Amino acid sequence: MENFDLTQLRAEFPILNRKVWDKPMVYLDSAATSFTPQCVVDEICRVYNTCKANVHRGVHTLSQEATDLQEATRECVREFINAKSTEEIIFTRGTTEAINLVASSYGEMIENGEEIIVTAMEHHANIVPWQLLGRHKRVILRVVPVKKDGTLDMVTFRSLFNERTKLVAVCHVSNVLGTVNPLKEIIAEAHQYKVPVLVDGAQAISHIKVDVQELDADFYAFSAHKMYGPTGVGVLYGKRSLLKMMPPYQGGGEMIGTVSFKKTTYAELPFKFEAGTPDFVGIAAFKKSIEFMQRWGVERIAAHEKELLEYATTEMEKIPNMKIYGTAPEKSGVISFLIGNEHHYDMGMLLDKLGIEVRTGHHCAQPLMQALKIEGTVRASFAAYNTREDVDAFIAALNRVSAMLG
Ligand code: PLP
Repeated sequence: MENFDLTQLRAEFPILNRKVWDKPMVYLDSAATSFTPQCVVDEICRVYNTCKANVHRGVHTLSQEATDLQEATRECVREFINAKSTEEIIFTRGTTEAINLVASSYGEMIENGEEIIVTAMEHHANIVPWQLLGRHKRVILRVVPVKKDGTLDMVTFRSLFNERTKLVAVCHVSNVLGTVNPLKEIIAEAHQYKVPVLVDGAQAISHIKVDVQELDADFYAFSAHKMYGPTGVGVLYGKRSLLKMMPPYQGGGEMIGTVSFKKTTYAELPFKFEAGTPDFVGIAAFKKSIEFMQRWGVERIAAHEKELLEYATTEMEKIPNMKIYGTAPEKSGVISFLIGNEHHYDMGMLLDKLGIEVRTGHHCAQPLMQALKIEGTVRASFAAYNTREDVDAFIAALNRVSAMLG
C-alpha cells in the first residue's frame, strides 16, 4: 500500500519488541486498548518536565502553556471528527464517562414511563448508565435484536418508535461481532421522530473516518486509549443545541460562572461539563496520537486492517470446528470465535503461552452472550501495527492449541 511502510510504522512502537513467555509477542487485543507510539509517550514526559501547571487557572506562563496545549487538542479533535465548534468537544475520562454524562444530564429530561432504544450488541457502558436512570423513575429500555449474521434487526428497530421514545443509544461498531452498524440510516430514522441518537464510537473511531456532521449524530463518545493515545482521556461530542439545554453533570471547579450560597451560575460550553482538574497531560499527548493517525491516514490504516481481517477469517475458516461469531458484510477490526466445545479461557491461556495475546470472556457484553447462548468467546482484534506474519503466527498457534485441547 502506498505510503504505508509497516516496518517504519512498527518502529514507532517500542512495546512491539517485547517477548511473552520467551516468544515473540503478537498483540491481537487492540480493541481492548491499543499500543501507544513513542511520540505520545514523549509528549507525556515533555509536558511533565516543562509545563505541568494547572489549566485555566493561572495567569502565569506555565499555566498558559498547559492551557494552550489542552485547547490545541480540543481543536485537533474537532477537526478530526468534523464537529462545528470546539464548544461541542467535552473531555471526559473515556467512552464510559461520556455515556454516563449524557445519561445523567440528558437523562434528567427523560420522564417517568419514557423509553430509550438500545441494541442487543451494546457494551455494558451503553446499557448500565441507562438502567441507572431507572433508580429514580421508570425508564424503559427497548432492545433491538441482533440477527444471526451479527447485523441489527432493522425492521424491529423501526417498529420500536413511539411518542414516548426519548433517545436511541447504539454502537458504531460492535466490540464482539465487529459489525459496522448502518448509522446514517439509524440516525435518519430516529430524526424522523425527532429523537436524538447517542453513538458509542469506542470501536469505530480509530478504524473508520468519522464525520459527526455528515452522520448527523447528536452525541458521539470515544476513548483516547483505543486510538493509540493515553489512558484516562475520552471525548463526548454533542450538538451544541443539546448541550446548551442540558444541566451540568458534575459540580466543582472549572464548570462554574460564579458561586455563592444564594445562587451559582455555570460556565459556558464546553467547560460546563468539565468539573475539576482534567487529565491535561494526557489530553495534550492525545493530540500526538491523533496526529499519528492522520500521518498514516485513517483510511489507509482501515484498508490495512481490512486486509488482515479478511486474511485471518479465510485462514480461520480452514480450522475444523471453528465457529466465527459475526459475519456481517461490513465488519471492522475484530473476530470473535470458538472452536468446538473448547473453553475460551483455556484457549486464551494456551495462546498466551505461545506469545499470542487475545481477549477471552464476555467482552462486557453479557446480554449479547445471552442472545448467542454462549458464555464467552475468544476475540482477536487488529490495529495499524499488525502484520500478515502476526496472522500466520496466530493461525499456527490456534492449530496447535486446537490439537492440544481436542
Ligand atoms: N463501548 C465499547 C463498544 C467498547 O468496546 C468499550 C471498551 O472496550 C467501551 C464502550 C468502554 O470504553 P472505556 O472503558 O474506554 O470507557
